[in-house]
Amino acid sequence: MRHVIALDVGGTGMKAALVGADGALLHRARRPTGRERGPDAVVAGILDFAADLRAHGVRQFGEPAAAAGVAVPGIVDEANGVAAYAANLGWRDVPLRALLADRLDAPVALGHDVRTGGLAEGRIGAGRGADRFLFVALGTGIAGAIGVDGRVEAGAHGFAGEIGHIVVRPGGTPCPCGQHGCLERFASAAAVSEAWATACGDPEADAADCAKAVVSGDPNAVRIWRTAVDALADGLVTALTLLDPRTLVIGGGLAEAGETLFTPLRDAVRRRVTFQKLPEIVPAALGDTAGCLGAGLLAWDLLDTTDGTEVTP
Ligand SMILES: [Zn+2]
Repeated sequence: MRHVIALDVGGTGMKAALVGADGALLHRARRPTGRERGPDAVVAGILDFAADLRAHGVRQFGEPAAAAGVAVPGIVDEANGVAAYAANLGWRDVPLRALLADRLDAPVALGHDVRTGGLAEGRIGAGRGADRFLFVALGTGIAGAIGVDGRVEAGAHGFAGEIGHIVVRPGGTPCPCGQHGCLERFASAAAVSEAWATACGDPEADAADCAKAVVSGDPNAVRIWRTAVDALADGLVTALTLLDPRTLVIGGGLAEAGETLFTPLRDAVRRRVTFQKLPEIVPAALGDTAGCLGAGLLAWDLLDTTDGTEVTP
């Protein structure tokens, strides 16, 4: 049975699947990324995992995967298939697409983790059917994916969608990127966790605890939450002024607060827009499988599914 390999490489774990033509996850597997062993070992681990998935496909379906899609964090040169830089994995300019294609003897697509997850949310998740969408993930940082007609815009240098580094508070908190007052310093799950841990005196407290305290009416939690929501609305309005998306999909850890986030966020965005058209603001639907599902879509995109011939990526 014709299938592809989908692999989502994270900072701590790798999620993989064999994906059928209809998008079904035929086989799923996980492995640690093993970043403590260094960048070369991480790359070797990715290649080994992919090779094992290929072998599994041969055993289970009688043929090797027809293509592979791989999503990685950091800065990704998708056009040239190079993992350019990832602070958490320590690699620089790894020609991952060529290494994988050589090992798998199949075409390979390399994608950026958030853009790849966004591709899945836009095509088969919360943004399904939208010709223009913006996916924003509120996690350790904040990053986005700009969806246009079924594909995600990577930009000329692989930097498109970095909404977390839109300055929303000029002269504000320094950001490791070198600017001050970036959106992710205020509205990422990590920023909210840090602010709430300081306010409540429990270093273990996180953004989910803050959301619970908001629901129970804790004034400090309400203040921290409002700071985050206001900053997020400022950043999102900048983005939708530029991009005019039909659907705005919000995912990542902070979005797990559900209506505790979405009700005030929709209000805050609505209050800010003047001439701009208000997009539908919806929670992500695919959870932490989005990256893997998106990697599967990238792989299938390499194949001409109408006649089974391969197209040059
Ligand atoms: Zn920044």
